[in-house]
Amino acid sequence: MDLHGAAVIPGLIDSHGHMRGLGALLESRDLRHVKSIAEIASYISQQASSRQAGEWITARNWDQANWGDRFPTSADLDRATTAHPVYLTRVDGHAGWVNSRALELAGIGDDTPDPPGGRILRDAAGHATGILIDRAQSLVGSKIPPAPAAQIKRQLELAARECARLGLTGVHDAGVSARELQAYRELIAEGKLPVRVWAMIGGDGALWREYLAKGPETGDHLTVSAIKLMADGALGSRGAAMWQPYSDDKTNSGLLITSRETIERVAREAAAKGFQVCTHAIGDRANRIVLDAYAAALGGKNDKRFRIEHAQIVALPDFKMFAGNSVIAAIQSTHATSDMRWAERRLGPDRVAGAYAWRRFLALGVPVANGSDFPVEEPNPMLGLYAAVTRQDASGQPPGGWMPDQRMSREEALASWTLAGAYAAFEEKLKGSLEPGKLADFLVLDRDIMTVAPADILTARVKMTFLGGKLVHELK
Ligand SMILES: [Zn+2]
Repeated sequence: MDLHGAAVIPGLIDSHGHMRGLGALLESRDLRHVKSIAEIASYISQQASSRQAGEWITARNWDQANWGDRFPTSADLDRATTAHPVYLTRVDGHAGWVNSRALELAGIGDDTPDPPGGRILRDAAGHATGILIDRAQSLVGSKIPPAPAAQIKRQLELAARECARLGLTGVHDAGVSARELQAYRELIAEGKLPVRVWAMIGGDGALWREYLAKGPETGDHLTVSAIKLMADGALGSRGAAMWQPYSDDKTNSGLLITSRETIERVAREAAAKGFQVCTHAIGDRANRIVLDAYAAALGGKNDKRFRIEHAQIVALPDFKMFAGNSVIAAIQSTHATSDMRWAERRLGPDRVAGAYAWRRFLALGVPVANGSDFPVEEPNPMLGLYAAVTRQDASGQPPGGWMPDQRMSREEALASWTLAGAYAAFEEKLKGSLEPGKLADFLVLDRDIMTVAPADILTARVKMTFLGGKLVHELK
């Protein structure tokens, strides 16, 4: 093919995304850029008017940073409807905002205790406000009827097509269920999965036991050879487990969701059976606990390629533990540029030095695999490449970038979206670069992102996406 001098790069790999969440978002309203509670309430009341009483209304990606960092309440949603239970997921997936009907269906009253690893936010009088943090989300979430298989499959297919459109040839799906694996297998059999999925088993449950017994599964389009654990919550909802209280909430130092003992047990099981462990850790305490658990199971340098997902706030002395135990940092560069609006307020000036500090990993030789955590962030990898090299938002703020000494070079950024993702999945012999013998997963771009001005990376378009030499997307 004559591409008339167009730039060709290896297919990009998002090392941490949620395919089903992306598909669900593509079929519903994205609240990410909604700037007021009133606007969300008016959307909910519009949804309510077209549905039968009692039917659930769900949506995701609200963010209180859009209206001054105040958490909303169930009363805000009750103005829209009390006839329908409403469940709205925060942008980070770590908090739910519900109306009073949903609280009632879940049986949440003043006497309901916080579940382990979760928190029911309450007002001064002790009443639930309608915000459920981390494991408390499932008190309401478990009341929502399960999605039919056809819906799961449709959402995964939608997400896969979106990946192909955006130039992602690989996605590490960060926590799948047996039903999602079944839907993936059907889509593959029907030739409807235009992306390679490296799936992490979601949690230490029956599916994990099943895979431990039968061993990892490797395929062209679907590989299952890792487990995803959750050590803590997230920074935006103050659920990230910290050693010291939040600088803007002195009574709160976050939530540990999984014990060190459990993480260590799973790490030993995984290491013995050839699986990788990928543990979500945001806070400095969570990161240290995971590192300690991994170190106990791994005992120093190794080639097991265990990962910490996010590795977001790390105490400065703990960075070397990543290198010492060959732990991969699976970061998301757009989390830095989204969270920079309020991260220092949460953390204070000292702790922020170890936050989103990619260069500290790179300097130690720790592999840094990049991703978006979609639908937490937008799935377009160009946004992640731009954030990695600039540490600025889309309008170029702040000048010079936030904590600019942590910016990546163009080459490091591209490697974090290609080779490092391949390495983080034991696939560097097959993926991540354009070399003889590797899979023909590559992109044709409308500009050379390695040489254009940084701001022009943001608007780069993928003209064609090839997966295994086959055209799976073409820009019309
Ligand atoms: Zn995630």
